[in-house]
This record gives sequence, C-alpha cells and structure tokens, in this order.
Amino acid sequence: MRTVLTAEKLWTGTGLLDHPVVSIEDGRIASITPRAAGELAAGTGGRVFDYPGATLAPAFLDVHTHGAAGHDVMEATPEALKTMGRFLASHGTGSYLATTVTAPLDATLRSLAGLAKLLAQPPNVGETVTWPIGIHLEGPFLSHVKRGVHPPEYLLAPDIAVFDRLFEAAEGHVRLMTLAPELPGAVELTAHATRRGVRISVGHSNATAAETRAAIAAGAVSATHTFNAMRPLDHREPGILGIVLTTDSLFAELVCDGIHNTAEMVKIWWRCKGPERAILITDAMSATGMPDGEYQLAGFTVQVAKGRASFGDVLAGSVLTLDRALANFLAFTGASVEQGLRLLTANPAAMTGLSDQAGSLAVGQPAKLVAVDAAGRLVASIQNGQPTSA
Ligand SMILES: [Zn+2]
Repeated sequence: MRTVLTAEKLWTGTGLLDHPVVSIEDGRIASITPRAAGELAAGTGGRVFDYPGATLAPAFLDVHTHGAAGHDVMEATPEALKTMGRFLASHGTGSYLATTVTAPLDATLRSLAGLAKLLAQPPNVGETVTWPIGIHLEGPFLSHVKRGVHPPEYLLAPDIAVFDRLFEAAEGHVRLMTLAPELPGAVELTAHATRRGVRISVGHSNATAAETRAAIAAGAVSATHTFNAMRPLDHREPGILGIVLTTDSLFAELVCDGIHNTAEMVKIWWRCKGPERAILITDAMSATGMPDGEYQLAGFTVQVAKGRASFGDVLAGSVLTLDRALANFLAFTGASVEQGLRLLTANPAAMTGLSDQAGSLAVGQPAKLVAVDAAGRLVASIQNGQPTSA
C-alpha cells in the first residue's frame, strides 16, 4: 500500500524543504521530493494526505517518560508498553527512552530485565504502537535533598558494581542515566558509565558549581529537567544550575507544561541553551491521558488534578505530551516552529547517540512523522505509515 503525504514544508532534522511530497511504501519512506518534481499518487492507487499550511517533521523522541494511559514502564509487560505506545503514537511521539524511577534494587533489576526483552521484540510493522528504543535510569544515584518523589530509602551512593548489575540486567539497553554529581563516587561512575556508552545527565542534585564541572569533565553531557529538583541559582555559588545554563556543550532537558516552570524561566533556558542544546521532555507518569484522580508513582499515591501531578507540595512527574510541550514552548518563547522541532527530534537524538533511529527523516527509514501547524500544534501523527489526525 502506497501512502503519499504533502504539506507546506518539511523539516528533515537538518534542513527545510518547501512543498514536499513524501511517499511511503510498506511502512517505510520511499521518496522525499519537492512537489514540482514529485508526482502525486492520484491515479497510481496510493492514498494522498495533504496538510496545507503544516510542516512535516520526524516523529518526536522523548528521552524522559515514565508512563501514560494508566501504565508505568516499570511494569515491563507487553500490555503496559502497548497501551502506552498507542497513546504516545497518537500524540506524535515516535520513540522514547523508558524511564525508571528509584525503587528497591531487586524490583529495578526485574523491570530492566523485562524491558530488555521487550525492547528486543518491537511490534510488527503496521502496528501503530510507539516502542522504547532505550532505557533512562532516573536513580538510584540521586541526592536526598533534591529527590522529588524518589523514595529516600532506596536512594544509593554511586557505585560502579551496582551500576554494572543494572546495565547488565538491561542487556546494554541503558542509554541515559540521571546522577547527582555531588555524591561520593559520582565522578568515577560518570567516567565508567560513559565508557560503557551510557550518557550521563546531571540532576536531582544540590551540587555546587565545582562539583558539577567535575562531572562534566568526567563525561556528563546533559541535565535532567532543568530547574526542577536542582539547587537554585545564587550569585556567589551558581551551583549546578549556573553551570548547566552556561556550559555551551551541555544539553539540557525541560518540562514545558506551564506548571514545572513559568514562561519567563523557559525563556531564560532557551536563551542560554539555544537551538542546538535544548531538549523538550515530558517526564510523564501513568496518569497522562487519563482522568483526574489518584495514581501510583514510585510507590507513592499521586494526586492528579487540572494538569498537575503532585504528592503533597512536591510535583510528581507530569501529565504532559510532547505535542503540547512544543506548542507551549513556541507560545512562551516566540521561537519558530522549525527551531522548536529540533528540541524534540534532532537534539535528543544527538544527545543519546540515537540519530540512526530517531530525530530525522530519510529514504528507507520507517515512516514515523508528524504534521504540525505554525503554532506547533499537532495536525497529524503518522506512525508506521498510518496517518491519524489530531
Ligand atoms: Zn525527576
């Protein structure tokens, strides 16, 4: 079955094309041509989907998401990942890192072993299910002072032997790990994990500027949900946040739901990190896409009401989707849609070293695209060559 997509523009992950024609065969991109040169499929038996005024782009990559649609990735069952994956596909997310929360070590090892098996068996082509392409370990090597809702009794000091057990249980699928740089052993573990191909993201941290610089020197490449669960800025001790915002090489995540940070803070982050290093994430939990009520995260009962997930006074993840994150980001900053798209495609792919699997569009790749309007709102999500209107 041939499917043809047309729109106002196409952003490939590296450049813009005007009036594109994308042809999809058997769930893969067969050609990308400008409209003048590309014939439309009318008369050739293909279905044509036109998105006037919209920009086609690679489907989004979320490097930090815990769950959605009533499920948490740590359940590590086919049912949990499929239910969550159908929901993510409908919101333009084409791939993600299954993100753990701090839990008893044996429970985490069990989840990682289950996830590793599921990652090795993605659903059939043609099934509109978004599947994880790696794992993000959020914890257990986090600060007690800035733990958010990670349970204190299971937080651990950085330990190379414990990390190796986690890495091996996950059969090498760990791509990213959040770690607090001020903890004893953090610099050694940063260097060790980096040698094993795991990207280190600094976060859930009360680190000083010097402690943060030491982790970056040892290999840390990113920062986890900038501003949240971080020591705040001080003009004499800039702390982790001062270093994250001023180290140009460092990527930095942000939860852009209008709740985790105000619009002014999103602007500060954008002005500091810019189009090459800013990454939008959801930090979404199981309540995402579900009615208000009580949900579980990290063993805590979290209250979800009016878009806010909280445990007492503490925010407990989000109920954000990446399509909304993009629209919020453009509204808060005035950035262009092409600039904004990088933050959920090319940048997270570059940070995690997964550019061959996500974040760009090229002939031969699985057809996973979005169409978004000039305000960044999702017009359609095309996963496995199947368009779904938003
Ligand atoms: Zn967190």
